[in-house]
Amino acid sequence: MEQGTEMKREQGIQFSDCVNRISISPTMAVMQEAERFKARGADVVDFGPGEPDFPTPEHIKRAAVEALAQNRTKYTAVAGIAPLRKAICDWHAAQLGSSYEPAECVVTMGGKHAVFNTVGSLVNPGDEVIIPVPYWVSYPDIVKYAGGTPVFVRTQEKEGFHPSAQHIEKVITPRTKLVIVNSPCNPTGAVIPKDEFVRILHACQKRSVWLLSDECYSHFVYGEAKPFSIASIEGAKEHVIIAGTFSKTFAMTGWRLGYALGPAPLVAAVAKLQSQSTSNATSIAQYAALDAVLGPMDWLQHMLDEYARRRIHILAGLHAIPGIKCVAPQGAFYAFPNVSAYIGKDLPDDTALAKQLLELEHVAVVPGEAFGAPGHVRISYATSFDRIEEGVRRMARFFAQRSHVGSPAKAGKA
Ligand code: PLP
Repeated sequence: MEQGTEMKREQGIQFSDCVNRISISPTMAVMQEAERFKARGADVVDFGPGEPDFPTPEHIKRAAVEALAQNRTKYTAVAGIAPLRKAICDWHAAQLGSSYEPAECVVTMGGKHAVFNTVGSLVNPGDEVIIPVPYWVSYPDIVKYAGGTPVFVRTQEKEGFHPSAQHIEKVITPRTKLVIVNSPCNPTGAVIPKDEFVRILHACQKRSVWLLSDECYSHFVYGEAKPFSIASIEGAKEHVIIAGTFSKTFAMTGWRLGYALGPAPLVAAVAKLQSQSTSNATSIAQYAALDAVLGPMDWLQHMLDEYARRRIHILAGLHAIPGIKCVAPQGAFYAFPNVSAYIGKDLPDDTALAKQLLELEHVAVVPGEAFGAPGHVRISYATSFDRIEEGVRRMARFFAQRSHVGSPAKAGKA
């Protein structure tokens, strides 16, 4: 009944071209489906969420309570309170070696908002924006909303999924406005090696193209990889915009707080766009964020150690399943196994596979198609060790009942 009413309303409304060009986030759709199963009482192992399962640290929460007690509940400057803009610049300098001034920093409502407003400030209809594949689901839609054309550059799985300057350079045209990179990457966990990152920067500088670096997972790196910002490279600032967030590093996804760092005129344009849309980020969240960047960072290591442990466990579990290959992610908290050996007559694509996995084993994963990479699924290991063990067990059972390329056909497969 409700659905029918909704449909009629949709049919009666002429939506704007901008909105018609975009679709609902596929990761949100998976979360909704998993929620439906949970609501029916199913014991779902949810590998869908793209957020830390750790609570926001106590000192940050206390700062928010204190901000409320002090009635810091009014409008703030659109670009954020002055001490926070300065503290973000100082934190970024100390952690990632950049050298931004407060006038080069705007506080946004999360990293997505920073990307959205940067693209909205730079991209004209007809402009091209280069996006390496697999990509974070929102980039193409944000570009399309602005009227731009996403130009996809495939990365090589056998090379660890990181984009190469050579491939990016090949698709730069006079219409290219922007290249968007994300390291560590959602969904692959790929970390762009520093040398390659610098080559990508040089390619952008040579062709006067902006480089938007999404540093959402900057601190989630494992093994040899170290947090790195392209903004730390001398001479980079003129062509670089950094999109950052408190969501992951400080386990603050619900607080909606991020930032953009870039040349002052571009930051002013982002703030102008913000002034006519959202205005400032929530005042209380800004005061809490101030304590986040000024406060201790030691608790972060505890979170990273736990993710490192889970990463090893999930990789071992996936590798033990015949036919599944998984590039070892160097960062973020996702594994992106290649399940294409199981795609065929019974499971026509990764979406069908994810659907069956949820229906039959109550394991939620995101189909690779959502990230432009069919034949894969994204598994978030931002869930407890016990749930990972259980999920791996169920996946092993699911795949054991199906044949894969190179395996003898099994009788009675689903
Ligand atoms: N960038 C990437 C690559 C992400 O994965 C996400 C969230 O999952 C974001 C940006 C946006 O995060 P938020 O808007 O919560 O800061």
